[in-house]
Amino acid sequence: MPSSTAPRILLVGGGYVGLYAALRLERRLRPDEADLTLVSPENFMVYQPLLPEVASGTLEPRHAVVPLRQALRRTRLVTGRLEALDHPGRLATVAPHDGPARELRYDHVVLGLGSMTRVLPIPGVAERAVGFQTVTEAIHLRNHVLARLEVAEATDDERARRRALTFVFVGGGYTGVEALAELEDMARACCDAFTRVRPPDLRWILVEATDGILPTVEPGLAAHALRTLRSRGIEVHLETTLESAEDGRMRLSTGVEVEADTLVWMAGIRPQALTGELGLPVDDSGRLVVDSELRVAGAGGAWAAGDNAAVPDPGGGHYPPTAQHAQRAARRLADNLVATLRDEPLRPFRHDSLGELVTLGRYKGVASMRGLELRGFLPWLLRRLYYVVQVPTVNRKLRIVVDWLVGIPFRREIVSLGSLEDPRLPIDRAARETGG
Ligand SMILES: Cc1cc2nc3c(=O)[nH]c(=O)nc-3n(C[C@H](O)[C@H](O)[C@H](O)COP(=O)(O)OP(=O)(O)OC[C@H]3O[C@@H](n4cnc5c(N)ncnc54)[C@H](O)[C@@H]3O)c2cc1C
Repeated sequence: MPSSTAPRILLVGGGYVGLYAALRLERRLRPDEADLTLVSPENFMVYQPLLPEVASGTLEPRHAVVPLRQALRRTRLVTGRLEALDHPGRLATVAPHDGPARELRYDHVVLGLGSMTRVLPIPGVAERAVGFQTVTEAIHLRNHVLARLEVAEATDDERARRRALTFVFVGGGYTGVEALAELEDMARACCDAFTRVRPPDLRWILVEATDGILPTVEPGLAAHALRTLRSRGIEVHLETTLESAEDGRMRLSTGVEVEADTLVWMAGIRPQALTGELGLPVDDSGRLVVDSELRVAGAGGAWAAGDNAAVPDPGGGHYPPTAQHAQRAARRLADNLVATLRDEPLRPFRHDSLGELVTLGRYKGVASMRGLELRGFLPWLLRRLYYVVQVPTVNRKLRIVVDWLVGIPFRREIVSLGSLEDPRLPIDRAARETGG
């Protein structure tokens, strides 16, 4: 049991930073040394790098998340959202899902609020586009793509059919490329189960503003990935932007126009808007300014890492917003917090990127790892093994392995459970049709 005078550590955000910092603090601190509380809107942590597999159905959504109450042994979980921070007064205001806001006192606060999709003011985007950061979005996209195949199979209207089978993705970073590649692979395989929808009927379009895709992998590999996508018939429009998406009519800067029911927006992220409203210093991109020990500049007792922080790298720049950096910075942050409590010296955060492992669909991938360039089956397999090793708890590891093994001998699941998104529909219809 923590003693009533033990320092109170409040971790905000149950993602990579929140979970891995809490796990480390639990391991390093005796129960009487600190009182740990984690605030998270959900009672699970999302393993975002596994979302492409959730979208393509090779992984159950529940297996791509880590249940916080089970992963953490003595950190108190408060489900809700941080609303405001009075750091000089060491007071956080948290809004639970229901009921009035709560005030939580703390001595140290760890900020790991992550990022949100950066939406540009392009007509139609805010109304039509779907992002790809959450489990909800990944599940929705899977159901949506399968539902579009059903629409195309059922309709005799050629225009509606073409719209249904046209999928536009904006953003050629690894999230955009992985999501598109996995979904395209899934949809092509699912065509086996349809009589009127054939793979050549599907039109997949990737729109990228720069002159290449996958900017964070070696140029040779990125070029290979581009060739792979194009060889599958995916149209990749480089040095092109989306100008408008009104009424499902996608107008590109090159003058190309297509009608599509699907627009996936993955053209960048930004820190959560709240990050800039906490009264703590932020840089021009809205990220919290931290030193190399991961303390928020000029705000003793405030710590931050991950996508919501500008973590300095030794080269004078900042570490990129990736899971591998967030996870390792979280551990360093926790170690430095422990050192602070024990009056020991702090150490700067340093991490050499392990490289990138990118899935291009089932059994296909590219990887650049410390000068090594891999393409094809091996990087795809390495990526899967890497995440099995990384995901916390044996329970999760086993569930992921079982999902993947079960997927090998069997054909793809083609059930579209989009109706889950509207559970009140049956009772509404019953009430309408029976006058209830
Ligand atoms: C589809 C996808 C694929 C990716 N693939 C890779 C990959 O292959 N390799 C890689 O290295 N990186 C990858 N990333 C990036 C990686 O997932 C992020 O860099 C990482 O999650 C950042 O960790 P974080 O803790 O900063 O934020 P997150 O893990 O996003 O956690 C932020 C947490 O804060 C919570 N939160 C938000 N607002 C509030 C609030 N007001 N109050 C309380 N809590 C709040 C959120 O709910 C969330 O739980 C991928 C990202 C995506 C979206």
